[in-house]
Amino acid sequence: MKQLLIFLLIVGISCSSAKPDKNYAIAIHGGAGTISKDMPDSIRIKYEKSLRAALDMGTNILKNGGRSLDAVMSVIVYLENDPLFNAGKGAVYTAEGTHELDASIMDGKTYACGAITGVTTVKNPILLAYDVMMKSKHVLFAGPGAEKFADKVGAPRVPNTYFDTENRFEQWNKSKKGTVGCVALDQEGNLAAGTSTGGMMNKEFGRVGDAPIIGAGTYADNLSCAVSATGSGEEFIRHGVAKTISDIMKYGKKSLKEAGESVIFQILKTGDGGIISVDKDGNIAMPFNSLGMYRAAANSKGFETIKIWE
Ligand code: ASP
Repeated sequence: MKQLLIFLLIVGISCSSAKPDKNYAIAIHGGAGTISKDMPDSIRIKYEKSLRAALDMGTNILKNGGRSLDAVMSVIVYLENDPLFNAGKGAVYTAEGTHELDASIMDGKTYACGAITGVTTVKNPILLAYDVMMKSKHVLFAGPGAEKFADKVGAPRVPNTYFDTENRFEQWNKSKKGTVGCVALDQEGNLAAGTSTGGMMNKEFGRVGDAPIIGAGTYADNLSCAVSATGSGEEFIRHGVAKTISDIMKYGKKSLKEAGESVIFQILKTGDGGIISVDKDGNIAMPFNSLGMYRAAANSKGFETIKIWE
């Protein structure tokens, strides 16, 4: 009898403490900037379709219990291969008419991170950033050093002309902005962030923006949030945007929304750009102070959005 009571007690405790479905959340950006509202429907639909495909890809990984790092990488590789975005294939032109690419990735559980800047022949910079994180003892490789590291790990390569796209060429000399990024929370409670870009249109030789700088364009901390930025890289570096948002949450005890908005609207200037972010509880915030920001997000509670303007 006594044993039966103990058994019933144990069953009762384990049932009452059964965890609700585990949370997951994802947010994606495809760049912020002066995105004209006069954009023809045919072009808008292309962007929305691509964001939708990327969102579904990331969501499926998380839904099936995959790692946030894998969701971030898959989404970014997809967007890097799409010429619509200023990352990978669609990377903008430097002042010299070539392409120099940057990327970074961070694991919010371990603070491990990897980044590369100024690569010219790496097909998917986000994967090389991941290799830096996993296979080297360093965080950031630049230019020729990054190419040498790509040789070492056998990263897929392309000639620099692979990044030439007609659309980008026409826009040469106009200050077009872009970049892609992804942040995710997986069912294990791990946050990850990644960012990849061709940088700013017409940038000078060797210029490095915020995208490969951990703490500026990318940051993830399981105790607060994951952030990926897009916009005027110099400003995002100056204000250490991604880590400042994490710190405001972590030490200032603010919500994800409050932390992001205080940086985007009070520290940065109108037109500088925006961020996507998710926190450890699965909240999502995507504030921006430019005309538009290509973005998409979803979570395990059924929330879903794909937007370009306010
Ligand atoms: N932040 C990127 C850079 O400065 C560009 C962008 O997001 O549009 O390189």
